[in-house]
Amino acid sequence: MSDFTEHIGYSNYKTVTFCWDITTSCQYRCSYCYALPWLTPVNKFKYSTAYKNVLKRLSMKSMPEFNIEILGGEPLLHKNINTILNKLSTNNKCRQIVLNTNMVYDVMEMMYIERVKISPSYHPESANPVAFCRKLLQLKKIGYHDNNLLVNINIHNDTRYIDDYLYILKFCAEHEIYAGANYLNNTPGYKCMYTDNFFNTLYKAVSSLDIIPTGWSMDKINWLGVSKYRHPWHDDVRVQSGDDIKIYNMGEIRDNKLNKWKGYKCLPLLWQIDPDGKIINECTNEPLKLDNSNIQQQVVCPCDECGWSDVHYKSYKHNEDIE
Ligand code: SF4
Repeated sequence: MSDFTEHIGYSNYKTVTFCWDITTSCQYRCSYCYALPWLTPVNKFKYSTAYKNVLKRLSMKSMPEFNIEILGGEPLLHKNINTILNKLSTNNKCRQIVLNTNMVYDVMEMMYIERVKISPSYHPESANPVAFCRKLLQLKKIGYHDNNLLVNINIHNDTRYIDDYLYILKFCAEHEIYAGANYLNNTPGYKCMYTDNFFNTLYKAVSSLDIIPTGWSMDKINWLGVSKYRHPWHDDVRVQSGDDIKIYNMGEIRDNKLNKWKGYKCLPLLWQIDPDGKIINECTNEPLKLDNSNIQQQVVCPCDECGWSDVHYKSYKHNEDIE
């Protein structure tokens, strides 16, 4: 717990976020994948009808406004993906839908669906940058571009993948496609060790590009893409200590080690939907009640560390009761 900080986050921030792993199937087996222990082969589907109950729950009257991120496994392997996205896009509680995909599947099979954002994830251990970029153009053809197409480059701590990142960054700059960096976390099979040497090498490599894409700018204010732990899509967060109010980005939150809030009052608003349809709070592991009555419920933070997602930090944390 921070010694000096009294509040972090926004007291009026109540937007629930669901992360929905809709399938256990995936073509890849990346060492850093959090889903590795439960992944199944491409043609082995588990829980393929569980989505029906989830969609029903998400359209209940008692459901507050929410954002949703569709993950897996590889979501495009779910046979009903277009139905799922269509239903979500007509759900009036649903504010934002982000679909994460590894781009292996034939993306031309996808439909353009209003309000859906596609986040193609580049997986350095498994993917080929040329094939990946070719598919980006196909997505543009279908209608996903500008703010609806947000490439996510998973930054591995091995420098041997840096040339692949440069290829993608160059391609995205030439085709006006937004590309951000995703810094990885430890998993049982991957120890994340970003060193200063790693960041210096990445910094030098990105500086050599003719066009440095937005978000990867090397000036101090905008040094987002390759700076330690800074991600251009994260919002800033309010931190207050007495009368001193600061607005920090996610990198500064990490640098200031503002990730320990055990014992503070908090509204934990991140919910995990498992492939079998179970809905569990990411912080408390409590299941979502059938009437949704615990969806925005104050708890005493039980976690040793707060997760590295801006949803965690926008959620209000205070040492007093939250109104
Ligand atoms: S870990 Fe969860 S409960 Fe604890 S402070 Fe972070 S968001 Fe709140």
